[in-house]
Amino acid sequence: MSDSAKANYAVDVKNLTVYYGKIPAISNIKLKVQDGEFLGIIGPNGGGKSTLLKAILGLIPITSGSVNIYGKPILENRKLISYVPQFAAIDKHFPITLTEVVLTGCLKKGLSPFYKYSSEQKALANELIEKVGLSALAKRRISELSGGEFQKMIIARALAAKPKILLLDEPTASVDTTSREQIYNLLEELNKSVTIVLVTHDLLAISSHVRTLACLNRELVYHAEPELTEDVLNGLYGCPVDLIAHGIPHRVLKEHGEGHND
Ligand code: ADP
Ligand code: MG
Repeated sequence: MSDSAKANYAVDVKNLTVYYGKIPAISNIKLKVQDGEFLGIIGPNGGGKSTLLKAILGLIPITSGSVNIYGKPILENRKLISYVPQFAAIDKHFPITLTEVVLTGCLKKGLSPFYKYSSEQKALANELIEKVGLSALAKRRISELSGGEFQKMIIARALAAKPKILLLDEPTASVDTTSREQIYNLLEELNKSVTIVLVTHDLLAISSHVRTLACLNRELVYHAEPELTEDVLNGLYGCPVDLIAHGIPHRVLKEHGEGHND
């Protein structure tokens, strides 16, 4: 890799602070995400995880600091990022099929609702639907999808924009255990060609899939390989206290994390 390519992190967050009114949601965040990384971000509820993703995407005003995407401000490189929001703004009762939703991922902003998709776009949508394992449901109305199927559809839609970076906010929050594991396996597969930043509560599941892990509790308190030390788990840095409350054994990350850092 050339030096200039190395210098351009997929995401480079510098001294980022975001206030809502008078309250800081995230404070002085420094976070570099390398090209090809699979970063898991964990942290307590209200710790600022969704805020960080939205700030990276330029969806909310930042108070201070900066975000660069492959060396450029988000406005210039917005097309390189796709986002799977925590709450997808889709009415589940809208009479639309799974394929039609995935196709909307190809649309650029401002296109007419009467836009006719090209045969390439249709082929891409079918390919992505197959990739996420939903071919049998391609023509199904979205009101008839399970939580897990719905999330896989949203991931396929995000991929339809052919992103280099995929940001996902709690994609497994309301899905069953089988779908959850399928989604993580899918993300691991996608990570061969896409940089992934995944926000989740689901420490046990992500520990065996992500390459690096960060803890966010207003401040970024940890960012390294997915092995939490006792200090971190003890809440010394104020992050995974809720994990301890759930009785997760201290060494679990180390066992699962092995083999990811070759
Ligand atoms: P997480 O995703 O880690 O649960 P959020 O980023 O959603 O955390 O929220 C961080 C903090 O910012 C919380 O205290 C939350 O109540 C607050 N917050 C989030 N969105 C808004 C908003 N639009 N206006 C005011 N406060 C907000
Ligand atoms: Mg959130």
